Formats: sequence, C-alpha cells, structure tokens
Amino acid sequence: MNNLIDLHVHSTASDGSFTPTEIIQKASLLGMRAIAITDHDTVDGLEEGEIAAVQASIEFIRGCELSTRHGVYDVHIVGLWIPKDIDKYPEFVTSIQTFQANREKRNNSIIEKLQALGIEISIKEVENLAGGRVIGRPHFAQFLKNKGIVASEQEAFEEYLGRDKKAYVPRKAVTPHEAVQILAKTGATVVLAHPALIPCSLEELDELISELSPLGLNALEAYHSAHSFKDERVLVGLAAKHELLLSGGSDFHGKSKPGVALAKGKGSLRIPYFVLEKMKAKRA
Ligand code: AMP
Ligand code: ZN
Ligand code: FE
Ligand code: FE
Repeated sequence: MNNLIDLHVHSTASDGSFTPTEIIQKASLLGMRAIAITDHDTVDGLEEGEIAAVQASIEFIRGCELSTRHGVYDVHIVGLWIPKDIDKYPEFVTSIQTFQANREKRNNSIIEKLQALGIEISIKEVENLAGGRVIGRPHFAQFLKNKGIVASEQEAFEEYLGRDKKAYVPRKAVTPHEAVQILAKTGATVVLAHPALIPCSLEELDELISELSPLGLNALEAYHSAHSFKDERVLVGLAAKHELLLSGGSDFHGKSKPGVALAKGKGSLRIPYFVLEKMKAKRA
C-alpha cells in the first residue's frame, strides 16, 4: 500500500462511468489508502462503495457533491463523512430530492432544445446511458458523441451543453450558503470544491469564503486535477488565512471525463495523506 488518497470521485450513481465496486477495484490496483465517493446530488452509490472498500481494506469516506449557484457562478460543495443514517436528516434528504427534481426539469428542457435543433433524442435514450437516477450533461455529451453529432464529449459541451451554448439550460439551484448549512447540520465535513474553477476574482472568492466559513465550511479543495501549482499555492494560503482545512481529489469520472485518472488526475496530482489525517483529527 502507498499513501495515495482521493477525496472527490464520481460513480455511475451520478455521471461517472464506473460503478462504485469498479472504482474500489481500481483503487485497490493502485494500492490506494483512502477514497471518497462524492456523486452529484445523491448518496446512492455509497452503500455499494463501502462494502467493496471494506473487502479491499481501503479506508472509505462517504461523500456527496452538491451543485449550487452564487450569482452567475456555479459553485460546488462537497460533504465528506455523510452519515449512514441519513434518513434522520430530513432537511438533507428533502434537499437532494429537490436537487434531483430540478435536474429532471432541466434535462427535459435540454431534450426540447436539442429536438428543436433537429436532433432526434428522447430522455429514455439518455437514461439508458446512465447507471443511476442522476442524469447530467455528461450523459447528453455521450449521447451526442455516440450518434456522431459531435466528435468528442468536449465538443458536445463547446457546441451544445456548455454555459450559454445552443442547448444550455440553467438548473434551478440553491445557494452555496444553503448547501453548506444543509451539509453542516448532518455533521459532514464541508468542502468548497475546486475553488479555482469558479471564474470569479480572488477578492470575490475570498469574500465568498468569509461568508461560508461561519455557516459551517470546513475546508478548501486545494488539490484538484484542474488546479495548477499556482492555484494550489493560492488556495493553501487562503485556507490558512481563513483557518480552514485542506482537501483534495481528482474529480475522476472514468470515461465520462477522459484524461483524468483516479488519485493521479492529469498525472501530476498527488494528494498528501496528511490532508485526510488533519480532517480526521478535527472531527475526533
Ligand atoms: P451537470 O451537473 O449536469 O450540470 O453536469 C456537470 C458536469 O458536466 C461536470 O461535473 C463536468 O464533469 C461536466 N462539464 C461541465 N462543463 C463542462 C465543459 N465545458 N467541458 C466538459 N465537461 C464539462
Ligand atoms: Zn460530474
Ligand atoms: Fe464539481
Ligand atoms: Fe465533481
């Protein structure tokens, strides 16, 4: 075993291409020490992931990633150590149900837009590409690629699905403030996901962190596949300033996001094990 960890991973329970069991098998082959599954707006994959992880002797952290909207910016909040007895947290359960309902509405609107563009598509066909209940834009991207309408998933986003593109439909979303509070109330460790991907200024990011910290934000995801070393440095500095913990993950989606490997990201990602140790020490 080595010290590799990954605290941001998607499975077929949302828009990743591998089942929780397959992810744990990959983690095992890599000799990973700990992993969190953090599917979008669902905890459906956690049971399966945990069982596989116990068998593989890999430390498993139950996670979830909530998509929120802060003004014009998409902001993602990850919760780690989501309780097993989640039914005892009706606010969390209701909110992920609402998140999923909003997703379904948005998905139907994307279908309508694509149909209006002359593309033959039904929601059933997109659902068939998904392993679970959560259907996201990567499933649409896969559909468009399979049909030969685009050459790659990336092109599907650039032409159709990305922000303000031909078939873009925004999703009704909660604020990051609400998501942080909902997660904090479950006792989860609350992480601001891939902060460098929020296309706001450093001042705005600093301001957002100041607002979220008193509501229960615990950590910044400084280490992420899409972050540069400079991003990491800036975020480590911001975390220190706000007395927050650090987190890190690849945001692995399997084939849905080519070029991003489990634990290793685009190749140079290395999430230090002490990141996890410090979180656990804070929780103890
Ligand atoms: P959704 O949650 O349905 O809005 O889909 C969000 C997911 O789509 C993200 O987790 C990314 O994996 C993917 N995604 C969003 N924007 C892009 C983009 N411009 N290029 C490629 N993938 C993207
Ligand atoms: Zn995703
Ligand atoms: Fe995200
Ligand atoms: Fe993610």
